[in-house]
Amino acid sequence: MTTNRRITLAHTPTEQLAATDFASDETASPELNDGEFLVDVKYVSVDPTIRGWVAYDTYLPKIPEGDVIRAGGAGEVIESRNPKYPVGTRVSGMTGWQSRAALDGGFVIPDGVEYTDALSVFGATGLTAYVGILNIGKPTAGETVVVSGAAGAVGSLAGQIAKIQGANVIGLAGSDEKCAWVTDELGFDQCLNYRDGHIARQLHQACPKGIDVYFDNVGGEILNAVLGQIRDHARIVMCGAISNYDGKELQPGPANIVNVVPRRALMQGFIVLDHFDQAREASQAFGEWIMSGKIKSRVDVTQGLENAPAALLGLFTGENIGKSLVAV
Ligand code: NDP
Repeated sequence: MTTNRRITLAHTPTEQLAATDFASDETASPELNDGEFLVDVKYVSVDPTIRGWVAYDTYLPKIPEGDVIRAGGAGEVIESRNPKYPVGTRVSGMTGWQSRAALDGGFVIPDGVEYTDALSVFGATGLTAYVGILNIGKPTAGETVVVSGAAGAVGSLAGQIAKIQGANVIGLAGSDEKCAWVTDELGFDQCLNYRDGHIARQLHQACPKGIDVYFDNVGGEILNAVLGQIRDHARIVMCGAISNYDGKELQPGPANIVNVVPRRALMQGFIVLDHFDQAREASQAFGEWIMSGKIKSRVDVTQGLENAPAALLGLFTGENIGKSLVAV
């Protein structure tokens, strides 16, 4: 009998998330029902949204205490009662943080695509950047685009897509090392280290004519500073607000939101789950952009399923560059 190594929710966090909110155990490998297949999970995804899922109902229900942590993952089918997913198929899907997952559906990973890429640029991360920047941000040549979380999974891709549209792209990230990667490797025009402080002043210097598109991954003070400097008909892509995720109380809203009316700006949130109909289109586009050297994708792999909680905590202290994954 093979065993299933799992990371579960031990306690619902009420304040800052801690490693002790998680537990690990070993159970029997899941039994399959008709229509299901068993995945030997190789990599699992580490996403800021898990911070919400462990604490409260969001766009998905809260993860109950004792349950496996909900997450994307990728691996190989090792047993199957579903003819669409025979043994040997490589798939990605909602495996959770565990080594064996019984699924009834998923995405078949094409030959030649690494598991890590299937969970990043060719997965929900890439699709998030793609629909956020192209469906909502819609930057045009010469416009000024600001992307927060620019050295992170989604932000690094969103900014590169904006560059492909011909925009002037300014990233925001939390260290000089990250900023150097964002400009030197990814080709953003500038990158500001927001930890240097005076973010409104830094933005004003970098964007003297104002900001046309803001791709927001962080919310909080940075969102407020941007809202104070938007141009007429600006588009603000509300992708995430990580600065608000890991505390007890939400911070007060951005005072500069008053600027949205006179600037006739659009602020729009979205959830990637609603846009899987664009997954094929996005993957094709990323494939072409990667082949032609226009997009670079980076993954940040932590070894060992037992280290998944630490990797999640690391998102809130900026440990990762690119997409955070755990090798099971
Ligand atoms: P990232 O790879 O960007 O990791 C998180 C990064 O956020 C950290 O590396 C850190 O970088 C930065 N960060 C953490 N705390 C703060 C803070 N207080 N202020 C500013 N930056 C901070 O994660 P993802 O790319 O996976 O996710 C980015 C955002 O996109 C999140 O808000 C997430 O919830 C959202 N998202 C939304 C989706 C949707 O469907 N709408 C789908 C997927 C993600 P640094 O060192 O630069 O601070």
